[in-house]
Amino acid sequence: MKKTANAAGGRRGMVFVISAPSGTGKTTLVNAVRARFPFLEQSISCTTRRPRTGEKNGRDYFFLTDEEFRHRIDEGYFFEWAEVYGHLYGTPKEWIAQRVAAGKYIICSLDVQGALAVKDLLPDDAVLVFVLPPSIMALKQRLTGRALDDIAAIERRLEEARDEIRRYIHYDYVVVNDELEHAAALLGSILSSEIHCSKRWNADIIEKMLA
Ligand code: ADP
Ligand code: 5GP
Repeated sequence: MKKTANAAGGRRGMVFVISAPSGTGKTTLVNAVRARFPFLEQSISCTTRRPRTGEKNGRDYFFLTDEEFRHRIDEGYFFEWAEVYGHLYGTPKEWIAQRVAAGKYIICSLDVQGALAVKDLLPDDAVLVFVLPPSIMALKQRLTGRALDDIAAIERRLEEARDEIRRYIHYDYVVVNDELEHAAALLGSILSSEIHCSKRWNADIIEKMLA
């Protein structure tokens, strides 16, 4: 992929991927980080699951039927896609590729398979952060408190959470979402450090400065 500088200072674009078991607080944290870093653009995935109360098509997800989703798989529309908790989820390819090539910073919330697929495709330009709940008990309380899933779905998500958590080792960073403000500040520090990492600087810009 072509690597271009962005307007903020001649740096390459980047995809910041957040994963966590469902109910840990990814959506809440991504919103908090985006409020602090308004230049972050959020990738909107497609899914075959039904919208939850308050979710909007085109803002939270693009909600598709199974048939529409499978048609897009065949067309090669997705950067990566996966079945998560019995539904299909996929990240549109063109959008991310174009934004990173244009030097933009993208944030997205993906499951573990999705995050690893992004790292495979953009090894130098993807930063993976795994968010842990303070405990499995706290996770259960958050899932119950959110009141968006029935008891069977919550039990299934808790079961899958254990397998997901074991895969933290593939990530660049791990953050515990205990106190929201603290976790959001940690994510912000990671993001800032990665943006300012020397490898992200475009050598041409430095040469221009020295010329
Ligand atoms: P996810 O996107 O990971 O499924 P959500 O962002 O929907 O999770 O959060 C799940 C629930 O936990 C929500 O009710 C949210 O308000 C709550 N929550 C998120 N972060 C915290 C936190 N640090 N402490 C307590 N509750 C939290
Ligand atoms: P939810 O249904 O709670 O919104 O999301 C369920 C899981 O699917 C979460 O772990 C979320 O990060 C993941 N997910 C959302 N969009 C995508 C995507 O485009 N690709 C992949 N692989 N996972 C996704």
